This record gives sequence, C-alpha cells and structure tokens, in this order.
Amino acid sequence: MKRFLKYFIVASITLVLLTGCGKENNDSGGKASDETLKVVTSFTIIQDIAREIGGDNLDIHNLVPTGTDPHEYEPLPKDIKKATDADILFYNGLNLEGGKNGWFFKMMDSVGQDEENIYSLTERVDAMYLSSEDGTDEEINPHAFIDPAVGIKMAEDMRDALMEKDPDRKEDYEKKADEYIERLKDIDKDYEEKINDIEEKNRILITSERAYQYMADHYGLKEGYIWAIDTEENGSPEQIKSLIKFIDENDAPVLFVESNVDRRPMETVSNESGVQIVEKPIYSDEIGKPGEEVDTYVKYLNYNIKLIHDALK
Ligand SMILES: [Zn+2]
Repeated sequence: MKRFLKYFIVASITLVLLTGCGKENNDSGGKASDETLKVVTSFTIIQDIAREIGGDNLDIHNLVPTGTDPHEYEPLPKDIKKATDADILFYNGLNLEGGKNGWFFKMMDSVGQDEENIYSLTERVDAMYLSSEDGTDEEINPHAFIDPAVGIKMAEDMRDALMEKDPDRKEDYEKKADEYIERLKDIDKDYEEKINDIEEKNRILITSERAYQYMADHYGLKEGYIWAIDTEENGSPEQIKSLIKFIDENDAPVLFVESNVDRRPMETVSNESGVQIVEKPIYSDEIGKPGEEVDTYVKYLNYNIKLIHDALK
C-alpha cells in the first residue's frame, strides 16, 4: 500500500506538470513521414522486437529494464512522461505486467492513455495455467514468449499494429517484419530438430521458476521447477523437497538456473540430489544489456536451445 501511495503521488505530480505542455501528434491520423512514432514497450523482449520491425522509424522507450522483475515494477517519472506522450504502447499481457490491476494498467489509467493506443501482443495465444500447490486456484502463466512460435505471433501482431497506426510507412514495417518472422520460423524449426535429437528419457527441463511451460509443452520437454511464479514464495523447504522427489522419479540429467533468479535454492537442490547445475544461465524474463552475449530476442532464443541441447544431449 505504501508503495502504491508513493507511486500515486509521483504520478499525480507528473500529470499536473504535463497537462500544461499538451500532447503533440494527438490527432489519430497517420504521422508525417519525417516524424518518428513514439513507442512504449513494457519489457526488454518487446523492446527488441520493436527495434527489429520499426528500426529508425520508432522512438522507443522501454519500461522494465534488464535486471528488474516485470511481474512487479514501479514506474519512474520518466516512464510516466513517455507513457503520456506515446503514440502506441505494447505490452505482453497474460498477466506478465500484473494483469488488469497490475502496475502497467494503473499507470495507463493515471496518464489517461487512450485504450486504442495500447496493444497486448498475446491476444492470439492460448493461455496456459499454473496451479497452486494445493491445486485449488489457477493463475495464468505469462511466459509465452519463451516459445519461438509465440514470438512469431507477437511479431505479426506488432507489425499489423504499426501498419495501422503509421500507414505512411506501411511497406517498410511489412518488409522488415516479414524478414524477421522468417528468422523466427527458422528458429522454431531448429527447436523442433534439436529437442528431437535429445534422447527421449533426457527431455527434462528443470529450472527455478516454472517459466518454460509453453515452450516445453510445444516441443515435448517435461518440466520440473522449484516455484511456479516469481511473485510467490521462492525456494521454501517444501518446494525444494518436491523438486528433489521429481528429480529422483524422472532421473533428471541436469539442472538449469535462470539469469534473473537467486541461484541458492537450486544449489540446495543440487547438493541434496547430487545432480549438477549447468554452469551458464538460461534466460527467461529478460534479454541481456546491449553488448552482452544475449542482447536480442533472436540471440536469446538461439542461446537457450543450444544450452538445452548441449546439456541434455
Ligand atoms: Zn518470470
């Protein structure tokens, strides 16, 4: 509650400051060809897809940076200003940004963004669910983008939204997007081939968070995990015990740890089960910072499948 209050005050002050300035390009028509379209993206993977499809036509501001949890985020004053001025905003949906009552929509409400400018990129994705330990309630798993086949849908939906908002540069978006989608389709094929190349009994993906559900389901990996989603308790003794049981029952060959989680719970699992952790991290909620090994979505997808294939093969 305290956090929300603080955020609310910052948001209100910023709003007051901004109202006087007025919004440029407020008309709903197309943009003049020399203007860049002002885009806001909710997290690093969507930011990167926008860079690929929009190139220099877009002025992109990303909200949740690498190293920060997209499930719970506190927008900064500059985020609020950018969100106020944006021509178009892209978010993941499937509750990645906390759902209708989460930080993203609170922010959209507070800046008064027009609903027509806000696009979820997972409208065509069938939601998968995480069930709680006692199996009574179900929560949507937001991590669909780990599956390259979902990435294709996200890129297609972004392409269509940009073409609609900025018709003067329609052909440019279409050309760049279609080339990009071809690359994603090759990656999708590569996932299929590499996972089929792993001996069937070794097709087991063990990670800290249950982030890989869509990808695992699509290509035929069995999932093991310590906790279902980052927002709940991470690494309780019961969670660790239940993963060790899973490892024993399935004779799992290795353990993976994500780039953005505390390694200690998985180290406990490794010590108690005698199964080793793959040294390099696997990626889930983010791509790396510019210049790092995994600084684009394409590199992220390629990196993850190589890591999985090399470790399980
Ligand atoms: Zn996550």
